[in-house]
Amino acid sequence: MNWEVYFKIVRAIGIRYFVLALIATVLFYWLFQKKWQFKKIQTALPKASDYTREIGYSIITIFIFGFIGYLLHFYQPVVQYTLQYKDIHAYGWAWYFAAFIVMLIVHDTYFYWTHRLMHHPKIFKYLHLVHHKSTNPSPWAAYAFHPLEAVVEAGILPVFVFTLPLHLTHTFFFFFIMIVYNVYGHLGYELYPKGFSKSKVGKWINTSVNHNQHHRYFKGNYGLYFLWWDRWMDTLRNDYDTRFEEVKGRKKENEMVVEVM
Ligand SMILES: [Zn+2]
Ligand SMILES: [Zn+2]
Repeated sequence: MNWEVYFKIVRAIGIRYFVLALIATVLFYWLFQKKWQFKKIQTALPKASDYTREIGYSIITIFIFGFIGYLLHFYQPVVQYTLQYKDIHAYGWAWYFAAFIVMLIVHDTYFYWTHRLMHHPKIFKYLHLVHHKSTNPSPWAAYAFHPLEAVVEAGILPVFVFTLPLHLTHTFFFFFIMIVYNVYGHLGYELYPKGFSKSKVGKWINTSVNHNQHHRYFKGNYGLYFLWWDRWMDTLRNDYDTRFEEVKGRKKENEMVVEVM
């Protein structure tokens, strides 16, 4: 075990999480909190204890992710069995870029099915309950997993490295995309425009409203980047489009009246 390399990986994963969640917090929960709160998917703010729980579990997750990353990318007895390659030209630039699309689809599928499995009543409380303690998630909830769930989430990496020829930078960039989308999914605000959930392309893309509903109701909306598994398996919540339009259609004055009432 090369501890130096391990801690470098942990540091990289940690910096990405903290910087992105911090930017989101500074903008949406601090600087413009009063100005934008009427747009918040659930207008109430998370409690201080929610932030500390989310950050605490996320730190443990970062160490677990770092360990799996180290094992599959730098620990030679394991790396020798992966399809990892060093020279980008070995598979060409077309594959280099196509791989990201493949990774998105594979990860989305992996996430949807493991997520549904973790909602099975017999295992829910052991693995997935920690993540669902955030019924009104903040950006810090992105990695708020029970350590066992963190291992399940990290399970996508062996799927990648043993089935796809990947360059180290694939992992590096892909998991950056993942954490950006993950922070957005738990942001508490919807960034896609009005009408997006019903649009031709948008109906297949996961949104913050969609994942927020999953946290609030525990049922339906299991996807990560896309909604095709939810649509095909009929697990998309019936009230998704209505909720999306309600959130995007709010006017500040009306919201204040509602809050006063
Ligand atoms: Zn869940
Ligand atoms: Zn979540």
